Amino acid sequence: MLKALRSSISLHQPRFTTHSHSTSRHGIKFNSPLHGVLRAALGFQNPRSAHRVFFCSDSSDKSGADAVAAVEEAESAAIVPAAIKKPDDFLTVLALPLPHRPLFPGFYMPIYVKDPKLLAALVESRKRQAPYAGAFLVKDEPGSETTSTDAEKNIYELKGKDLLNRLHEVGTLAQITSIQGDQVVLIGHRRLRITEMVSDDPLTVKVDHLKDSPYNKDDDVIKATSFEVITTLRDVLKTSSLWRDHVQTYNQHIGDFNYPRLADFGAAISGSNKLQCQQVLEELDVYKRLRLSLELLKKEMEIHKIQESIAKAIEEKISTEQRRYLLNEQYKAIKKELGLETDDKTALTDKFRDRIDPNKEKIPPHVLQVIEEELKKLQLLEASSSEFNVTRNYLDWLTALPWGNYSDENFDVLRAQQVLDEDHYGLSDVKERILEFIAVGKLRGTSQGKIICLSGPPGVGKTSIGRSIARALNRNFYRFSVGGLSDVAEIKGHRRTYIGAMPGKMVQCLKSVGTANPLVLIDEIDKLGRGHAGDPASAMLELLDPEQNANFLDHYLDVPIDLSKVLFVCTANVIETIPGPLLDRMEIIPIAGYITDEKMHIARDYLEKNTRDACGVKPEQVDLTDAALLSLIENYCREAGVRSLQKQIEKIYRKIALHLVRQGAQNEPSGSESESTQDATESKEIEEAEVVETNVSTDVKDNEPTEKVLVDEKNLADYVGKPVFHAERMYDQTPLGVVMGLAWTAMGGSTLYIETTQVEQGEGKGALHLTGQLGDVMKESAQIAHTVARAILAVKDHDNPFFANSKVHLHVPAGATPKDGPSAGCTMITSLLSLAMNKHVKKDLAMTGEVTLTGRVLPIGGVKEKTIAARRSGVKTIIFPLANKRDFDELAPNVKEGLDVHFVDDYNQIFDLAFESEK
Ligand code: ADP
Repeated sequence: MLKALRSSISLHQPRFTTHSHSTSRHGIKFNSPLHGVLRAALGFQNPRSAHRVFFCSDSSDKSGADAVAAVEEAESAAIVPAAIKKPDDFLTVLALPLPHRPLFPGFYMPIYVKDPKLLAALVESRKRQAPYAGAFLVKDEPGSETTSTDAEKNIYELKGKDLLNRLHEVGTLAQITSIQGDQVVLIGHRRLRITEMVSDDPLTVKVDHLKDSPYNKDDDVIKATSFEVITTLRDVLKTSSLWRDHVQTYNQHIGDFNYPRLADFGAAISGSNKLQCQQVLEELDVYKRLRLSLELLKKEMEIHKIQESIAKAIEEKISTEQRRYLLNEQYKAIKKELGLETDDKTALTDKFRDRIDPNKEKIPPHVLQVIEEELKKLQLLEASSSEFNVTRNYLDWLTALPWGNYSDENFDVLRAQQVLDEDHYGLSDVKERILEFIAVGKLRGTSQGKIICLSGPPGVGKTSIGRSIARALNRNFYRFSVGGLSDVAEIKGHRRTYIGAMPGKMVQCLKSVGTANPLVLIDEIDKLGRGHAGDPASAMLELLDPEQNANFLDHYLDVPIDLSKVLFVCTANVIETIPGPLLDRMEIIPIAGYITDEKMHIARDYLEKNTRDACGVKPEQVDLTDAALLSLIENYCREAGVRSLQKQIEKIYRKIALHLVRQGAQNEPSGSESESTQDATESKEIEEAEVVETNVSTDVKDNEPTEKVLVDEKNLADYVGKPVFHAERMYDQTPLGVVMGLAWTAMGGSTLYIETTQVEQGEGKGALHLTGQLGDVMKESAQIAHTVARAILAVKDHDNPFFANSKVHLHVPAGATPKDGPSAGCTMITSLLSLAMNKHVKKDLAMTGEVTLTGRVLPIGGVKEKTIAARRSGVKTIIFPLANKRDFDELAPNVKEGLDVHFVDDYNQIFDLAFESEK
């Protein structure tokens, strides 16, 4: 049996344990421990075990058990000397100090006896068939806060009186059931009180056996208290299987419960501290003992409840955390599976690091520092927060820029010349200028610090020259148009705090080209808008100015970037509207426009070739005659540039492509299905043939028919419609009072007529009426012309009263187009004089120039454009102000060729030239 005990209880556990007996031995078997408790508590008298008071015993301890039984039966007094066989043995006992808890009757307790003498005495008494000793709880050392192990140690060192003083007076008669080494297993029997010391080593004391005070079994209060104890016990027992085992074994040994036993049991199984337990042990009044026990149980229950709620809370926390972890892991796995892993913080950081690592030494330290800080921040931010996205985008931009990454610049002038010639016909002055620029770059080793501005009418190739320069210099090309741009943020970027903030165009450019030295073409700088918040012109200046742009600060990027290696090329139609500070820093290269001859070359060698390739037509399939091209240029596209010429050529080639494809489909050997639709196709073809009369000649070569589409002057209208411009000039011979002037606009040069006619005549009716959407300057210019003409007439023909007596109407045709400027002055005078003198001006004459009141002729702008326009209109003689001679002399020979040009500084010279034939 002891073996079973040792294996079932942990000997190191200083807790009460009950002995586990087989139930069959006493023939009592309860359905459940609680049942047993209840039955015992309610019925008390179990007929079969009414006098059974063995708590636990072994067959070998028969005598001891009998002795206790005898004691149990003597219930007459509160304190009775034990009426046993050898009363001395039980009235004088060895005192065993219990360091942790008192021993309750009916419970087992293993203790360690460190004192060898005491141990020997215990062994001896077991041999003498009197295996009993007194077990007394040790008092805490007054004022000391020693730990329990220290207290235990101290107690073994005490002897005699000292030890006696440290023991509680009331203890338990303990039966020694086994001694193994220094481990002694005790079973509690009845209560004892020390009366005096008998010997000091080992401590032996005289004791009184204590009896519970008599009580009334039918007392309602006692009953009620005991019921409450049972109810509470039931709750306590529910909480732990350990307690249930206790009840079962306890029941089996003591058989019946009575009130005092119930109280003891309650106190013993409560986890209360030793003093509280000692209090229960010392209490002989049954009611009070029940109360104390109930208190302890209730407290135990409370503790249990708290423990349960703590356990529950912790469990909940753990389980939600576990759930979270699990879901997170699954989420990661799903993302990985779907290839979305890049959203992951670490994947992101890795991506950014991969970008910067290869050229870390090229990144400026201040930028690297910002990148590191942002990377750190990214790790700390919640991935779903908006701040995270802002930081991620910011890092994306920061790391994507080509810090210190340059393309090798080409300073080979010959190669550059080749590239420029490949892309553009003519423009020799522009090309020369660019080659000069490259040559300087070669000598200096760098081409930075220059802003080129190409100015000219649309379609003259400004943008495509920019692209060519980039190719010639081996720089990447980026174009952005600032026409109408009014938001400074487009240039300088938004601050990062705005939702949807973006860096400025320059940062976008660097990211997209991937090198830090691209050629950036800023288109239409003359049409830069006016900002409502901030001035785009000054932002532009900050960007372009070589003095400032080495530390260009984009609002979004927030770190200075070096744009000094970027080559800026601007384009403009007119330079007048370019903001002054910007214009100051620019090197203007004007492109005036092309004359017919140049357009022919461009059309033949560049536009046609490119369009043909783009349309997939082979050169041998088409014959676009020179006459057709010339007609196209003269009658369809009278612009300065070649853009609409290009459009017309594209139109022709699209039609040719369609024709060839239709032709091909018809010639293909067709199946039965296509045969059935042949009629329809044929009739359609006939219709088509009426619209497009093509001369198709078929060469038979290697048995493969090659069709050639011929486009000449005659069938041109079938491809591009009727000519837009009918006659080259409005008048073959200008009528009286009509003179051709030369004008210059953003679209290039053009010719215009000044017309005057007499409205009415009469004494003193001389007046001037103006129409033709003239601006203020031009109106004043007309007034001046009127006055000057009158003065000249007075000299040339002083009898002529024309201006004094005639109301004259002056009109400038193309009435829908607003016109302004002073350069029509000389034309107006000539026109008025023609009317006044009734003389036609010289045929095919055009003139331009501002005239003062004294008849001086002042210079004008746009000489090349005006010359080209005059040529286009078939003008033979041009009159320019003398001061413009230099501009004219600079013109290419083919522009000047065949023109009779006169330079004048006084109106009288014009008078002579204009009216000479009439002389
Ligand atoms: P812009 O920028 O001055 O308005 P573009 O550069 O767009 O004009 O030019 C329009 C078209 O005309 C382009 O296809 C360009 O290649 C062509 N082009 C203009 N000038 C020339 C030239 N001198 N030689 C060859 N092609 C030209």
